[in-house]
Amino acid sequence: MHQQTSETFDRNAREALADVQLRGALRNLATTFGGRRKEAIATVEDWEGLRDRARAAKDETLAHLDKYLEQFVGNAEKAGAQIHWARDGAEACRIVLDLIRARGASRLVKSKSMATEEIHLNAALEAEGLAPVETDLGEWIIQLAHETPSHIVVPAIHKSKRQIAELFAEKVGIEPTDDVAVLTGAARRILRRSFAEAEVGISGVNFGVAETGTILILENEGNARLTTSLPRTHIAVMGIEKVIPKFTDLDVFLKLLPRSGTGQRLTAYQSLITGTKRRPEDEGPEELHLVLMDNGRSRMLSHPVTRQSLACIRCGACLNACPVYQQVGGHAYGSVYPGPIGAVITPQLSGLKQSAQLPYASSLCGACREVCPVKIDIPELLLHLRAEVTEGTAAGTAAQHGPVKSRPLERLAFGLYARAWSSPTLYLWGARVARLLQGAVVRKGRIGKVGGLLAKLAPPLAAWTEWRDAPPLAPRTFREQWREEQKR
Ligand code: SF4
Repeated sequence: MHQQTSETFDRNAREALADVQLRGALRNLATTFGGRRKEAIATVEDWEGLRDRARAAKDETLAHLDKYLEQFVGNAEKAGAQIHWARDGAEACRIVLDLIRARGASRLVKSKSMATEEIHLNAALEAEGLAPVETDLGEWIIQLAHETPSHIVVPAIHKSKRQIAELFAEKVGIEPTDDVAVLTGAARRILRRSFAEAEVGISGVNFGVAETGTILILENEGNARLTTSLPRTHIAVMGIEKVIPKFTDLDVFLKLLPRSGTGQRLTAYQSLITGTKRRPEDEGPEELHLVLMDNGRSRMLSHPVTRQSLACIRCGACLNACPVYQQVGGHAYGSVYPGPIGAVITPQLSGLKQSAQLPYASSLCGACREVCPVKIDIPELLLHLRAEVTEGTAAGTAAQHGPVKSRPLERLAFGLYARAWSSPTLYLWGARVARLLQGAVVRKGRIGKVGGLLAKLAPPLAAWTEWRDAPPLAPRTFREQWREEQKR
């Protein structure tokens, strides 16, 4: 298989569609998570009102992010946390590495964190001879397999039980079995040793409360709690958009996030961490380091359309609902953020040039917008980014350098199309001519797979009919039928 990147999305997607095992693993995604989500949100009286409140809290924060960050930092420092600012991923990795080196530490445990995936922290640490151990079961599985997560919440969703059993037999040395209790038991035994020996624990952050300087980490396995409390040093990497104004805002987000993501009323563990431990006999780390990371977020903040990307609470609901993600899975996106939210965040983080295909990885059906607990208008963002790709007119990297893709023929075709469709006479004659020409491709009343010379002459049409039939133009237009009816 070739190296999958965002630049090769089309090719990645074709390979994913041909991967029978992957299709099997993804088959239940929509029904399982979608079904559970529906049941879970039915337990909330005013779900829509809750979504509005969450979005309002996020909008308020993003409109005054500097103020809330300052407040968060002040209160976190008062509670004993040490703050580090990182302009980009490389700087964030360097800060984490320096902190580990300064403590002479080499035994590291890590809980699941999209922020650290975003900056490829594991690779940066491994390049320096360190070996961080992922402690979330799904993350541990993909670490064993030397893969990347394929879902924001369920990182190993692309793997079948049989594949995991084979992996454990090969890497952990247990007898091959598909007994889940035996597999998880083996993982628990190994990970417990890592927890007991760890000198530094690295985590992400779900929310940072400005009012108190508290960070909140949600999880289901208890591994994040062990990661953040057993080692003497805790390093938390946090995107600057994770801050929220008040402690009471958590009431809203805690109702929304687990229900939207996994269909749970609440995750099994919610760790609220305010600074370091106060007394020697208290539990918790002696040092807490918060690495506050920008990495492109200020750029997103600067435009009213792209700003809403920062409201994302990484619940994963849009992935589960997306018909494209359901078919191709996460790796096809070639980015740590897959699915609809990945299709809008990745181009903004890594640049449109590298990921110009991603804004097109959508049918614009709007399912992502429907399920998003913070009402992010992902289709609007996708269209905004498509405009950047082709026109370079919207704000962002492309605007400064002109269009990423210049497609003169496409531009000409749509120009003619717009002209024809705005003139009744041209529209009428255009339909008549098209009706005559379509005789060359209609078979049994459908326009099916178009091959041979025609495919070479008309690649856009052939690309469409490669995977589905197109209906031919009707023998008579509605106007013609109407006129005939009037005459009768
Ligand atoms: S965009 Fe919305 S639905 Fe998708 S992960 Fe973010 S918060 Fe969840």
